[in-house]
Amino acid sequence: MLTILFAAPKDWPEYQASLPQALAGAGIAARIIHEVPTDAGAVDYIIYAPSSPLQDFTAFTGCKAVLSLWAGVERIVSNATLTQPLCRMVEDGLTTGMVEWVVGHVMRHHLGMDAHIVNPTRAWRPVAPPLARERQVAMLGMGALGSACAQALRGLNFNVTGWSRTGGQSGAIEVLSGKGGLRDALGRADFIITLLPKTAETENLLNSDTLAWAKRGAVILNPGRGALIDDEALLNALETGQIAHATLDVFRSEPLPKDHPFWAHPKVTVTPHIAADTRAEGAARALAENIKRCESGAPLLHRVDRARGY
Ligand code: NAP
Repeated sequence: MLTILFAAPKDWPEYQASLPQALAGAGIAARIIHEVPTDAGAVDYIIYAPSSPLQDFTAFTGCKAVLSLWAGVERIVSNATLTQPLCRMVEDGLTTGMVEWVVGHVMRHHLGMDAHIVNPTRAWRPVAPPLARERQVAMLGMGALGSACAQALRGLNFNVTGWSRTGGQSGAIEVLSGKGGLRDALGRADFIITLLPKTAETENLLNSDTLAWAKRGAVILNPGRGALIDDEALLNALETGQIAHATLDVFRSEPLPKDHPFWAHPKVTVTPHIAADTRAEGAARALAENIKRCESGAPLLHRVDRARGY
């Protein structure tokens, strides 16, 4: 019988039915506990979220993995007490949510919907939008979420170029890498989408220098992390028209402070970190699958590389 510490109390109501069901479905006999036991060394797995009160992992000497309910792990990855393997969340509901948010916001700008939704002068502007096949997308980050969004946009006939640390090919999509690759990807894109983790290397990736590489009038969508973009540089690029619009889901400080210039900016759309949420049913299945793998000696899925930071 395994002992699983569910250390994300705020999330428990969503998981209290789905997690036991998923564990049973995977043939795992486990007791789920909510408090750190006297014998913390007997805990086999810890289920964790950034809001978890648990911050010191030292006592969990027998813990085989810490399983995050979130895809982004920047708030735990540098915790020096965490020596156990750490896995981030990849599950269908999270991915599907992100694909729908990204496709929806790209289509808004691609079709120029705003001009028709708010048209107080009743102007008749019979100009058809271009076709998706005439548009270029740069997908910065081609991991679980970026590659799914890239494939969905490709499926709608957008021309998509990926950019990642390692580069290569993702299906039919070319994935560039390095500074030169970033310059190329930005230089050709009508839509720049950032789905990168927050690490020392990705912080301020879009800054005054790199925003100047973008095609004039490009639209930015950032559902990745706020720190990927230098706020001041973005405001300047919006001011000069270098960037036509920014749709932002994530911010350096959340909730976005009421006096932040993004709120009132006519070329910025703020969504409140809702692009993609972990869905308990799929997440419970993903957790159970990973535990089952680990128990059978198979490598854990979606294991975080502490040195890389994601
Ligand atoms: P992932 O599978 O770990 O993919 C990360 C991608 O970023 C990979 O393609 C990786 O390159 C690339 N990358 C990392 N560091 C890089 C660097 N220095 N230069 C270039 N590329 C780099 O992550 P994911 O599951 O797709 O999630 C991505 C991010 O989305 C999360 O970290 C989180 O911040 C954000 N997120 C936001 C929401 C929301 O609601 N807004 C929800 C979930 C997640 P390689 O492929 O070469 O390794």
